[in-house]
Amino acid sequence: MRLTLLLLASVLLSCTSPAENSEEPIVAPAPAPLPYDVHDSVPSFPSYTFLTGKFDPSEHPDFVKVAAGYTDGDPYVLHRDTYAAFERMHAAALADGIKLIIVSATRNFDRQRQIWEAKWNGQRLLEGRERADEAYPDPADRARAILRYSSMPGTSRHHWGTDVDLNALNNGYFAEGEGERIYRWLTEHAATYGFCQPYTAKGPDRPNGYEEERWHWSYLPLATQLTDYAAARLKDADISGFAGAEAAPRIGVVENYVLGVNPACKE
Ligand SMILES: [Zn+2]
Repeated sequence: MRLTLLLLASVLLSCTSPAENSEEPIVAPAPAPLPYDVHDSVPSFPSYTFLTGKFDPSEHPDFVKVAAGYTDGDPYVLHRDTYAAFERMHAAALADGIKLIIVSATRNFDRQRQIWEAKWNGQRLLEGRERADEAYPDPADRARAILRYSSMPGTSRHHWGTDVDLNALNNGYFAEGEGERIYRWLTEHAATYGFCQPYTAKGPDRPNGYEEERWHWSYLPLATQLTDYAAARLKDADISGFAGAEAAPRIGVVENYVLGVNPACKE
């Protein structure tokens, strides 16, 4: 009975958040020591430590809390420049009858590691239906399956304080009705405020990387600096500190995922 309840709870948790980001509690084994000390680290922008999210953004002087009126109720922080731009965009959208709601923002290495390892170990189902540990015994296959929607720790744009998830973690939501109006507004106006959708539909312009995410928007004046930094400095072999990190070089995580974004978001 207890096992049945656990399985049911796990399915429900996964279904409410098919993508990368939920802030639901995750039942995980006792964590290994962190590969860094969040309390000693206030990395400069840009730097390798900043890029890989190995700091506590709530303690970083460049990060600010997001006002509750902009969010789904959970606490979030953003880089202050991103936040100022988001406030301008939010006001302009509201004037057009569009309400933008932040449903995820900055997540550091450790938070991403919790999400990644829960999927790696099968505690959290992929897209609500698949146990990665059972479906993909080969580490590279398993990593690619998780990477449809979730980043490896150390490689997420959500580490940077530059990226937000808006309104719903579900492409279908943005295909009709209110969601379609919101997405159309964003595609027409977000660039005015510095925001770009990095994970557009796969195609000739974007053959590799994460699947489409209509909810994920990136503040380019900061994010392009970090993308450039990653292109120059981030190496697959340096990705470490979590279960499955050994797959990073086999799948080319930097080239295919970190740099596999909408070309318009690299300019
Ligand atoms: Zn996102």
